[in-house]
Amino acid sequence: MAAPEIYAVALPTPLRRSFDYLAYDPQDLLSQKPDIPAQVGMRVRVSFRHQVLVGVIIEIKDHSDFEPHQLKAVDKLLDAEPLLDKELLSLCQWAANYYHHPIGEVLAAAIPVALRQGEPAALQQEKAWQLTEQGQDTELESLKRAPKQQQMLAQLRQEIATTGSPRVLNKDLLLTNPNRSALKALSDKKLIEATSIVPDADRTLPILKEAAQTLNPEQQAAFEQIELGHYACHLLYGTTGSGKTEVYLQAIDRVLEQGKQALVLIPEIGLTPQTLGRFQRRFNRPMAVLHSALNDSERKQAWLLASQGRADIIIGTRSAIFTPLKQSGIIILDEEHDTSFKQQDGFRYSARDLATLRSQRLNIPLILGSATPSLESYYNARQGRYKLLPLTQRAGNAKPPAIELIDLKRQSLKEGLSQALIEAMEQHLLASGQVLVFINRRGFAPTLLCHDCGWLSQCPNCDARLTVHQNPSHLHCHHCDYQRPLIHQCPTCNSRELHCVGQGTERTETLLQNRFPDFPVIRVDRDSTRRKNAMQNIVDEVNRGEPCLLVGTQMLAKGHHFPNVTLVAIIDADGGLFSTDFRGAERMGQLMLQVAGRAGRAEKPGKVLIQSHLCDHPLLQTLLRQGYSAFADFLLQERQLSQLPPMRHMALLRAESTRPENALELLQQARTLAQQISPSDNELQYLGPLPAPMEKRNDRFRYQLQLHSGHRGRLHQLLQVLIAQLEQHPLSRRTRWSIDVDPQDMS
Ligand code: ADP
Ligand code: ZN
Ligand code: ZN
Repeated sequence: MAAPEIYAVALPTPLRRSFDYLAYDPQDLLSQKPDIPAQVGMRVRVSFRHQVLVGVIIEIKDHSDFEPHQLKAVDKLLDAEPLLDKELLSLCQWAANYYHHPIGEVLAAAIPVALRQGEPAALQQEKAWQLTEQGQDTELESLKRAPKQQQMLAQLRQEIATTGSPRVLNKDLLLTNPNRSALKALSDKKLIEATSIVPDADRTLPILKEAAQTLNPEQQAAFEQIELGHYACHLLYGTTGSGKTEVYLQAIDRVLEQGKQALVLIPEIGLTPQTLGRFQRRFNRPMAVLHSALNDSERKQAWLLASQGRADIIIGTRSAIFTPLKQSGIIILDEEHDTSFKQQDGFRYSARDLATLRSQRLNIPLILGSATPSLESYYNARQGRYKLLPLTQRAGNAKPPAIELIDLKRQSLKEGLSQALIEAMEQHLLASGQVLVFINRRGFAPTLLCHDCGWLSQCPNCDARLTVHQNPSHLHCHHCDYQRPLIHQCPTCNSRELHCVGQGTERTETLLQNRFPDFPVIRVDRDSTRRKNAMQNIVDEVNRGEPCLLVGTQMLAKGHHFPNVTLVAIIDADGGLFSTDFRGAERMGQLMLQVAGRAGRAEKPGKVLIQSHLCDHPLLQTLLRQGYSAFADFLLQERQLSQLPPMRHMALLRAESTRPENALELLQQARTLAQQISPSDNELQYLGPLPAPMEKRNDRFRYQLQLHSGHRGRLHQLLQVLIAQLEQHPLSRRTRWSIDVDPQDMS
């Protein structure tokens, strides 16, 4: 008798293993050998513990540790071709090993929901628009009373003229001009009509839709270093506005010339519609965009377009690192220092680190771009592992902004703002400039305090204060989402002397509205941009160029190009200098320069004013007087002395429980076990169990154990054995615990 065919199937369960199934059940006459041979990477539907699940075949073999009669047969083979090719599957397997996360859950992160639920891997037709005969003949002039429709019709004609295709995808039209009502109105007037097509790359068209910029000498030098066809990691280290994006675009142009695809990862798409617009304006090739705001079918479509090679440029956020590529040519990761590239819960992977691995295996170049590189990448460049491509000048005519510190010591402040700062704002507004005010706290004030008895607005579930919000008025915990109405009387002493302590964006907004009643004040934070298109509307308003004040959180720091901002004010530089996280200073420096980089990005020169009580602090001085490289070198020396990443490798074991003793005990056990597993590894060091920086959050008590090692491989061997033992431990079922490899955020 022939050996049975057995599939090892990865299923979406928290178990760190795969499950064996028979290809078919020889005893059951209804179960038939599938007509097409199964391959690794295809999906199957199986029953698993009274559920029906969709899994992925990760191995095909002829024996199992179980007897054939103990194995169930798969219900159905769902694909005729592998959904995941070998490269992507092996990337997922590598990630499961490296991050010590169950393969089934890793695959679940990689595959769009619709496909995970078993939908066929088939592309859908997409909505597109074409001109009617009337639409072809109409003079644009005749629409001058409806400028939005006029603009949309012009755009559609322009697209048709440049691409030579009579139909233009709805999503492409809306990407740069999100105006559905204009399309509807044009369609009601019978100037355009809707149709549907399956998007595809027409490679007969010229690649460029618009001419490329002439690179300046630094850009040219960087561009020439990027060779296609083999692996190298490039750190494109260019100050904000130095033209990194132009270098990406020209590198992509060469990739497209070779008929290959470019995968571009960016931190947050919702915040940067401008970036997408630049890619779309440049190239005559279809783009697929993958981000969290897509619905399930849009996400599946984009993923399949990439997989089938019908999209040549794939732009996405973190999880897009798992996009299948038919003909990969380059991977680009913009703002590589951004913490959003590391997932902070569940499957805690770093898209940046996976990008290095993936491009190595694909043997294609990788570009990491940033004005303020992470110490990890900066160190790799210093060590010669990455090619350093510096861009020190701003591109075009823009000049770098002048940065000045305002010493707050002994100054009288108005709601946190110094007189000097308010005067500077006024000057810039009167000179028709726009002012950007950065304050990294949303809400009105971070604390409510009773002036008579010292009562503080504590969250009942967390070691944290409730933030005062005025709009709408309430108290809110930003850690567990607890909310209650704002109170005006102290709950312990009944005093009415409740004071709002500290500054949030709402408070600064109110102050500025009162101080500058003639200028619009626009607040940008998570609360003010919740509605769909809110950010786009803000960007549009700012880019109209009228003088205004923008007040916002770090959302303002991310990649925006506001040409008329001439003054950037940083209200408080000191927070990061006291952080408990060893990356606090690094993050502070990055954020400050990113915010500062919003000033003077076009013709008008920019100025940056930074308020601080610690103007003489060596870190602040180094950053502002000598620049980011000196600052990074300074921090690297500190990391060397304290033996912290990137000098050594770290893994963080977290445990949390409503009963603190359980979590502590589990970590104590983990440490004991680890010491037994690797008794004589003198590279290995432990720190903890220690309370997390916020010990109680959402009614759970949180602890952590740090494992440090100079030897990555040995650290991973230890983790593998340790996790297997911990999973068997009785406490591990009563405590929520997780492992974080290369943790980025120690909270
Ligand atoms: P970065 O990505 O480094 O922040 P951008 O690529 O956004 O910088 O470039 C900043 C501005 O400079 C953009 O308006 C861009 O069009 C312009 N620019 C970039 N490269 C050139 C160039 N070689 N010549 C003229 N303008 C350029
Ligand atoms: Zn009181
Ligand atoms: Zn809370």
